[in-house]
Amino acid sequence: MDRTDTSRFDPDRIRVVVFDADGVLVHGATFHPAALNTWHWVKSTGRTTYLLTNNSTTSRARYARRWQRRGFPIKRSEIVSSGYLAALLLRRVVDERAWPVLQSVDVPHFYIVGGTGIPAELRATRVAATWSRDPRDTRPAQVVIVGLDKNITYRKLARALRSLLYDDAVFVATNRDATYPTETGLWPGAGSIVASLVTASGREPDFVMGKPEPQALWFIRDLVGCRSDEMLIVGDRLETDILCARRAGVWSALVLSGVTSAERLAATHDPLLWPDFVLDDVGQLADLFRHPARFAYRHAHERAAVKK
Ligand SMILES: [Mg+2]
Repeated sequence: MDRTDTSRFDPDRIRVVVFDADGVLVHGATFHPAALNTWHWVKSTGRTTYLLTNNSTTSRARYARRWQRRGFPIKRSEIVSSGYLAALLLRRVVDERAWPVLQSVDVPHFYIVGGTGIPAELRATRVAATWSRDPRDTRPAQVVIVGLDKNITYRKLARALRSLLYDDAVFVATNRDATYPTETGLWPGAGSIVASLVTASGREPDFVMGKPEPQALWFIRDLVGCRSDEMLIVGDRLETDILCARRAGVWSALVLSGVTSAERLAATHDPLLWPDFVLDDVGQLADLFRHPARFAYRHAHERAAVKK
């Protein structure tokens, strides 16, 4: 599929709309004024909605409850988090003993650098293993899972490193986001914690779960049973949301209400990071379905090439 050719976009063929959370539906603790209406509108058209988030610190169940309390009726089953994707992967890897280090143990043990969302998803997904987030944990670990840990300490890093170096543990990263957006600006993301363990161990993660890995979108595609080009993702970050869509063969709409400004987009020369469509914010989504050509993105370079 020629992904720069948005004239081939047929709104009627889109069956699934995948939303990013931060910068799209929410801004810190506040919902975007158009978030709820847009979510309802997509559902009223018979399409399926999902929230795809790299946030692994909170379980899907808690995430859903938190949004429901604030009047946003999202279901747990509509949320796909990087922690959940990690749990699904590990269930399969453990059940199939699909890694040499797992073949010699009855019940594998995991060491987790991350929030409570990761153990909650391992439990919800019934992964047949034990796990700990305690740096004093002395058991050999066959799997090390690394996500965003807002209480990260040197001892936790040292504990994880030990299993990466001496237990030959499978190295699983929930995502590699460099930063994490908060109301007071950018904070270090899961990727910065992963990077410190990559530096210390000299190893790259064996698995990276969240966006921009295409598997994140393919998981939703397979759940729904549709094709990649019957999906549209709405996101605010070029290196995660848009790149993920490109790799997965999914249509993408960038909103300018989050971390990416129009100037930043215009200065981005890597075509892999160009969205198919650009919206001021999520409130324009219904208009995109009615008049896609109005929102199609053409980078200045491409416009110049067309004129020649
Ligand atoms: Mg975002």
